[in-house]
Amino acid sequence: MSSAQNLIFLGPPGAGKGTQAKRLCARLGVPQVSTGDMLREAKASGSELGRQVAEIMKLGGLVSDEIVIDLVRERLGRADVAPGFVLDGFPRTLGQAEALDRLLQTLGKDLTHVVQLEVRDDLILERITGRRQGETTGRIYHLKYDPPPFADRGEGGERLIQRPDDVEEVVQPRLALYAAQTAPLVAYYADKGLLRRVDGVGSLDEVTQRLYHAVGL
Ligand code: AMP
Repeated sequence: MSSAQNLIFLGPPGAGKGTQAKRLCARLGVPQVSTGDMLREAKASGSELGRQVAEIMKLGGLVSDEIVIDLVRERLGRADVAPGFVLDGFPRTLGQAEALDRLLQTLGKDLTHVVQLEVRDDLILERITGRRQGETTGRIYHLKYDPPPFADRGEGGERLIQRPDDVEEVVQPRLALYAAQTAPLVAYYADKGLLRRVDGVGSLDEVTQRLYHAVGL
């Protein structure tokens, strides 16, 4: 049996998927595969793909299944995922989940766990609008819950940026899309016996401890 740790992180925007996925990846020594990060990189590079997705992302919509599945297929075909991976922000639709099943079968890989980070809607808005990210390191801060060392600068003095889709007007459509398109995946993975629920409310370290426990670390 393979000992690879192949995980998925499910949860609404602002649940802490990116932050906790980074911690888990460091602990397991596996790469984090975030379709949101990959799309933001495409946007920043000014590529044709980046131009195609920019408007959708700004409005909090979902990029087509075809585009994100292509990105994930290419990423999971690389050698560095041999020890495992943590998928963060993918799959987001049933179509993506089914495509992932087929892809993993082709690659001879199995999912180990699907972590559902649970945070109530009424806590999400504050979490998202207070989120800032280091321009060079990608380090995620929260103005209140994980404050940067300076008002507008991160460690090492790097500039902090706010994602354009982290403003209040865009949070509601993102949450609505999550409820309609992504929440059904909870039942999909529960039926397969893969789902691990983790309470995402608490300090960063508390949530990390619950997460480690849930995945058997
Ligand atoms: P995230 O960083 O995961 O919140 O993703 C940021 C944005 O990228 C989302 O609001 C979508 O517009 C797009 N995106 C990321 N992952 C996916 C996905 N799996 N399916 C469709 N759109 C995605």
